[in-house]
Amino acid sequence: MWRVVGHSGAVRLLDRSLSEGRLAHAYLFTGPPHVGKTTLAMDLVAAVNCDGPEPPCGECSQCRHVRDGRHADVLHLGVAEDEGRKAIGIDAVRDAAHQANLNPFEGRFRAIVIEGAEHLTEEAANALLKLLEEPPARLMLMLLTASPDNVLATIRSRCQRVDLRPLPTAAVAEALTTRWEVPEATAVELASLSAGRLGWAVRAWEDPAILETRDRRLERLTAAAEGGIEERFAYAAELANLLPQQRTAVRETLDLWAEWWLERLEAQAGEADEDGPSRGDLLLAVREVLRTQDLLDRNVNPRLALEALMLSLPRVAAG
Ligand SMILES: [Zn+2]
Repeated sequence: MWRVVGHSGAVRLLDRSLSEGRLAHAYLFTGPPHVGKTTLAMDLVAAVNCDGPEPPCGECSQCRHVRDGRHADVLHLGVAEDEGRKAIGIDAVRDAAHQANLNPFEGRFRAIVIEGAEHLTEEAANALLKLLEEPPARLMLMLLTASPDNVLATIRSRCQRVDLRPLPTAAVAEALTTRWEVPEATAVELASLSAGRLGWAVRAWEDPAILETRDRRLERLTAAAEGGIEERFAYAAELANLLPQQRTAVRETLDLWAEWWLERLEAQAGEADEDGPSRGDLLLAVREVLRTQDLLDRNVNPRLALEALMLSLPRVAAG
């Protein structure tokens, strides 16, 4: 049984490739953080190694070892999305390439899983490209990314791409109640905050600090939106300083801010508020936040990019 929730199109595609014996050597799983990319990739690794009648059976030792993160043939590079990001360098990829050429030890396939493939350095990406050009027969490469446009095009073109989209809110709520036994009211609330990312909702359920962090970020960005230029530049500096160590935190903060502007835009539908920003201003604000996120992924000077963002956002009256 596939453990991933939803994403039925992707599961069907992979299931069919499995049963027809036509799997790709390399997959690129794309989608927002915590939408299910890692779970789906690990399901596929379990499936190709599974000894059960209907892979992935979830019960044989291959499936269990993959699920528990102790399968001898699975190698993870990069770091999970909630642990902050740093570059994936040439040494890590060289080590992986060396292992890739050894026969699998425990199962039928070796798997190299690269979390945050957009963070491969240029050198590392080129080393990976060599592996993709002449992949060993019993190797599966799984690349995971939230921003596929920032993965080298030559790498992208050698992978089968599987795009994961946010789940419907109701599907997140249902999974929370049935699989994690979250009380219904809480499940509905977490689902509505999750933006369709079940992984985020599960983490928020297991760790209340995540919701507290969200509230604190909201307070801070609301103050910046309502504040003057000094307040805004102080906030830009704060985010820029956070970026090297806590890239994911900054990304999540900007996600939250894009949502914040979007909510104002939706609330304003129909009647324009004479004192507040116009619809055009609000739409521009959403776009500017998303554009800045993209710029930060491309390693521009973060302080300058964030200050430019602060200057471009409309002023909002304190409410
Ligand atoms: Zn199995």
